Amino acid sequence: MRGATVTVFDPEPARGAGWAAGGMISPEFETQSTAGQLPALSELAFASRALWDAFAFDLGLELGPPSIAIEVQNPAASQANMPEKRILWRDTFVDPRKLSASLWESCCRAGVHFERTGVRQLGGTETEVVLWDGQTKKADTIIVAAGSAARYFASDLPELKVIFPIKGILTSVHSPGALDTVIRSASLYLIPRGDQVVIGATSEPGVDDLSVPPEAVQQLLRGAVRLVPSLKGKLPVESWAGVRPGSPDHAPLVGWSSRKGVYIAAGWHRNGILLAPVAADIIANEVLGGIEDPSASAFRPNRFG
Ligand SMILES: Cc1cc2nc3c(=O)[nH]c(=O)nc-3n(C[C@H](O)[C@H](O)[C@H](O)COP(=O)(O)OP(=O)(O)OC[C@H]3O[C@@H](n4cnc5c(N)ncnc54)[C@H](O)[C@@H]3O)c2cc1C
Repeated sequence: MRGATVTVFDPEPARGAGWAAGGMISPEFETQSTAGQLPALSELAFASRALWDAFAFDLGLELGPPSIAIEVQNPAASQANMPEKRILWRDTFVDPRKLSASLWESCCRAGVHFERTGVRQLGGTETEVVLWDGQTKKADTIIVAAGSAARYFASDLPELKVIFPIKGILTSVHSPGALDTVIRSASLYLIPRGDQVVIGATSEPGVDDLSVPPEAVQQLLRGAVRLVPSLKGKLPVESWAGVRPGSPDHAPLVGWSSRKGVYIAAGWHRNGILLAPVAADIIANEVLGGIEDPSASAFRPNRFG
């Protein structure tokens, strides 16, 4: 915190998309699957991956072994033959629920003050917020980091009107020892988590609810069996949904807003966990260090006009 006094207003800290996520830290896969989009995003992703080992160590978390990508040509072929496998040496994963809890605990230890309430809007003066109960709070700097809900602040910060929700559903099955590491295809990933395998995730742009229709879970289970046939017949243990904060070019909006003293950290799309350590450095450098971090220059919130 570099000496700053920090208050977080959040009705549900350590939940949000970060809690619901798969937890992949996949610069290699993301770079290949987002070919043609903002090259700076790939650089940022690899820069963040390089920070992840120390970040995980500081938080007392373990990272998984390298991930495996599987090309599934068609369902019949994938069952008859071994699908083509590729090891993604630089891709790893973390348990996102442990990550959320651990980040929260370490913030508390560092003296961050949490208030379990939401921000309704920015206030009359530049660095003031109005809370859900109508109270106003003033600070030297405000950082807007409200995930997919950041778009509700667009009347105060027009840069945020481009943020949109992308719902994702995951499910898990009890299958001890079924997987040693993440296995993923273009549309699906399977993650070992304790004695379960987590299967994800759907992607529904524009949808902002946490319902879990049984058909979506069945679709995930069918896809999982195509990748790992031994999962056939497994029943879901837990199914859940989260909402990713989308942006038009799938890259974050990070930097000072048009309103003096208000900083935006939004639109992390499907990479908010991967990008967490580099995001933390950028925000600290710019907000507390008073410098412009060049690694964020391609991601300024005003780039959409
Ligand atoms: C299904 C799914 C799978 C994913 N898988 C991965 C993955 O494998 N790897 C990866 O890197 N990323 C993944 N992501 C993306 C990642 O979770 C997000 O990019 C990241 O969580 C975004 O962080 P955030 O803090 O902006 O938003 P969130 O994590 O959603 O946090 C936003 C916070 O803002 C709070 N809030 C909302 N409104 C208000 C308000 N009015 N006032 C105050 N607080 C408010 C919420 O309570 C919440 O705590 C996935 C996301 C989903 C949904």
